[in-house]
Amino acid sequence: MTDQTATDRLRIAIIGSGPSGFYAADFLLKSEVSPTVHMFERLPTPYGLVRYGVAPDHAKIRNVINVYAKTAAHADFHFYGNVNIGYDITLEELRQHFDAIILAYGSSTDRHLNIPGEDLPRSYTATEFCAWYNGHPDYRDHNFDFSHETAVVIGQGNVAMDVTRILATPAEKLAATDMAVHAVEALKASKIKNIHCIGRRGPVQAAFTPKEIAELGAIEDCDVIVNPADLEIDEVSRAFLESGDRPSAKRNFDVLTEFAQREPTGASRRIYVRFFQSPVSINGEGMVESVTLVTNELTGEPGAERAVPTEQTETLPCGLFFRSVGYKGVPLPGAPFDEKRAIVPNEKGRVSPGLYTVGWIKNGPAGLIGTNKKDSEETVAQLLEDASSLAGAPHRENDHLNGLLADRGIRVVSYEDWLKIDTAEVERGKAAGKPRGNFTTVDEMLAVLD
Ligand code: NAP
Repeated sequence: MTDQTATDRLRIAIIGSGPSGFYAADFLLKSEVSPTVHMFERLPTPYGLVRYGVAPDHAKIRNVINVYAKTAAHADFHFYGNVNIGYDITLEELRQHFDAIILAYGSSTDRHLNIPGEDLPRSYTATEFCAWYNGHPDYRDHNFDFSHETAVVIGQGNVAMDVTRILATPAEKLAATDMAVHAVEALKASKIKNIHCIGRRGPVQAAFTPKEIAELGAIEDCDVIVNPADLEIDEVSRAFLESGDRPSAKRNFDVLTEFAQREPTGASRRIYVRFFQSPVSINGEGMVESVTLVTNELTGEPGAERAVPTEQTETLPCGLFFRSVGYKGVPLPGAPFDEKRAIVPNEKGRVSPGLYTVGWIKNGPAGLIGTNKKDSEETVAQLLEDASSLAGAPHRENDHLNGLLADRGIRVVSYEDWLKIDTAEVERGKAAGKPRGNFTTVDEMLAVLD
């Protein structure tokens, strides 16, 4: 600790309260410069994708919140929930109050396939589906039509695994998780029997991780089907698999090999894990009725094979289509943005002296929650290198900022306020036999505080 007074100390704002923001806050609070850290979040609730992305049946992954809660309990940590930076207050105004700003706002939208039919009714995105079943206020009024027997999921990352698993899991099981009640009710009425999870490359190149693909084989009353022919891989893939360069690829392959040997049991639902196909059009009169897929071949170096379309196509009847081909970052008004890569351009997390970035908006939307720890440490190291030249913001009193937000009618949600909302959600959950009963509108959340 230095002996500077609160107003002399470095004042740092973090925009976004997901894992990358919390790890950055923790490194800063433990650093020699002992700054005050002020975290801004658009919603009244902290934790970003840990709350609104992690699947409800993966409760253990959410336990990482306990680590972030310890950071939040630090006397020099301040939470400003329900404040939308770039709209309620500009980035430039924020710079008047803070010596440094870290952009940690993640990737809030998703990539498109850019194929005909993508905007047809019943063509959905994995990101909106995940946000919907997790009760994100922006998505709670979305409607998903589960009245058809066949769904197609394009992409084979872990988000596609989540979507496939949730569609295949009996709704009674999901009811016992913290899944939003509106989603449980809609899924209870689901008629889905077949889910095709389709990758453009092969089983060796798939982006899912071993635990997540193995989970598909453990769903109650559900058969998982892999065509043994898809496991007859080419020499380049075989060499890569055996090189051990990516050990998880070998474990994935072993799981898929075991799936391919299973005999269907006549279960109520079936998951088909399929490879070497890309969608070229989504077809239907007024809504999704089928998808046309082209068969691919692989080309390129081991570990970097690309999918190249052949002449062979197939039209697969389906009533729901989900694209799960990755999240995408969006610009924050007033901050630089690389449109091509959909990230904030940076050098090891430094955008310019006084402006930094962490997490998915720094690197793109890849990596597990824990990946953010080292990444945020890298950015904080850049900030600390600049620290001696940063203390320049003219407004150094919290009251000045609070007054400005109050004048604009913004109801700031402090961390103490959030704890009240949290307690109310746990109480609601108890009454419904769930671990927690999350509020799904901002008004409901704020009502707890009034
Ligand atoms: P991802 O891991 O990058 O997977 C994206 C998938 O989309 C890949 O299969 C990719 O295929 C495919 N794809 C991309 N463009 C495509 C196109 N034009 N046509 C067909 N397929 C296309 O992304 P994600 O699933 O959104 O996950 C984001 C990150 O969150 C990942 O690091 C993931 O592991 C993590 N996550 C983890 C968990 C968990 O730990 N349980 C849960 C959810 C998410 P190619 O491989 O051929 O590019």
